[in-house]
Amino acid sequence: MADARVAADSELTQVLLAAAQRLAESIDAERVYDSFHELLEEVVPHDGVVVSSFAADEGLIRCEYAWVEGVRVDESTLPPLPLNRAGGGMQSRVIVTGEALLVNDVAERIQEPGGTYYNVDREGRIAKIPDSGPAHTTAAMMVPVKYGGAVVGVVQLMRDRGLYTHRDLELFSALVGLMHAAVRNARLQDERAQLEAVAAVERARADEREQAARVLELVGDGIILADRDGVIVFSNRAADAVTGVELCGRLAADVFGAWESVAAAVPVAREVGATSSMTLPVSVGDRELWLSFVAVESAEGVVYAFRDLTAERQFDEEKRDFVATISHELRTPMTGVYGAAQTLLRTDIEWSASQRHDLLQLIASQAERLSQIVDDLLLATNIDHDRIQISQEPVEVGELVRQTLELLEGSDVEVEAPDPSYALGDRDRIQQIVVNLLDNALKYGRPPVRLVVASAGDALQLSVRDSGTGIPREQQERIFEKFYRRDPELARAPSGTGLGLYIARALAERMGGTLEVRSVPGSGAEFVLMLPCP
Ligand code: ADP
Repeated sequence: MADARVAADSELTQVLLAAAQRLAESIDAERVYDSFHELLEEVVPHDGVVVSSFAADEGLIRCEYAWVEGVRVDESTLPPLPLNRAGGGMQSRVIVTGEALLVNDVAERIQEPGGTYYNVDREGRIAKIPDSGPAHTTAAMMVPVKYGGAVVGVVQLMRDRGLYTHRDLELFSALVGLMHAAVRNARLQDERAQLEAVAAVERARADEREQAARVLELVGDGIILADRDGVIVFSNRAADAVTGVELCGRLAADVFGAWESVAAAVPVAREVGATSSMTLPVSVGDRELWLSFVAVESAEGVVYAFRDLTAERQFDEEKRDFVATISHELRTPMTGVYGAAQTLLRTDIEWSASQRHDLLQLIASQAERLSQIVDDLLLATNIDHDRIQISQEPVEVGELVRQTLELLEGSDVEVEAPDPSYALGDRDRIQQIVVNLLDNALKYGRPPVRLVVASAGDALQLSVRDSGTGIPREQQERIFEKFYRRDPELARAPSGTGLGLYIARALAERMGGTLEVRSVPGSGAEFVLMLPCP
């Protein structure tokens, strides 16, 4: 008896060892079920096997694998069954108690009140017995599948003829345990493979994004992505450079003045090919920029690409000013020359010698003005291209000022220049600056005009002060710009090109000095030229 038991145990051990090996070889759950069934075929006679999982949170029992009467049934066609806690359903009882069941009197059991048994036929039809007639099954075994102490499934085995022994149940239970371990393992492997695949896709996407970001960094246009709340979630280097602000993370409305009207004015295309650009003035901090925008909708918000056209705009404006000023300034003397020449050519009038002289004088002075304008233009261009020669030598400025005033004979200028006052620079260029400052003071200011030369530490200071209306603060830097003239459209404005102070300051700087203006509007302007001392 004992020997028989030992032999049986050793046979069981061998079966289980072989089973464990076979099940472990299967790497997907579906293959584990197939191997499990093949193993069962060898050791426990049966006509049907159903593996079900139980989801405690839903209270549902789902079929994972079914084999009935020689046919594999597609488990996806079987509906989940609700757990019946109170009723006599055998599957439910195993789940509730966590105990295996061995039933050799299925037919009688289901006759008991509440006794239920679900049968699956080879077509995959579920029949609730006894409601749908008597059971074919004579014996059945049901084993709970446990994980972490809880029942997570049931495996049932049934036969249509003969009975099951406790030894069958023992073997069946052991195989179910092995099967479950193998299924869990296969699922874990599967999950890991899936996670790895997800990680690989994420990595590829990140690489793509990084590559795209690198390309965007190299693009010369500013690019920003504003999300639905108007927060800038991406900006490239050019965008930060154009605005002078680290844009990422900022609210577009905090960086760009009147952002709402920009967003409303720029047409947002649905796709890249359909964009159209819009050039707008936008204030960023205290700067006014002209930006040309295009916008495209994206999943996260709106992508804006912009180009800084401020310099071009300014250049265009300068060009317009230039053409307006030059044509006006040239036309005035040209008209004088033309009118005087036409008059002289008239044959119906006898001109006296003095009248003829006056007309010729007019032609000469207007021609001189014309050549003055052309000279200014050429000089300004040469300064811009660094094509002027400037000598650096000691110049006695007091004497230079007195000689200059002799040239401007009759001008009402008071001079204060302690003798001798030396500066380092180019005599002719210093004289040109002085002439321009005195000319402006007499043209735009009012007498008295006072010129003072004084020593100021390492520098020599020459100031020209008038008693006119002065220059408003906001124009005090602008008057040094090329072609800038205050009120040039005033018909009675004195003639000029707007180049005088531009040239004067450029010359002062080339000699290592400075030229500034101080003016309290209403009480005259004072231009201060500083030159290094020898
Ligand atoms: P232009 O005399 O040819 O117009 P400038 O560059 O010499 O050009 O001067 C630029 C502008 O600065 C002038 O148009 C004038 O409006 C203003 N300006 C220059 N000097 C004075 C001054 N002393 N008082 C008031 N305005 C002045």
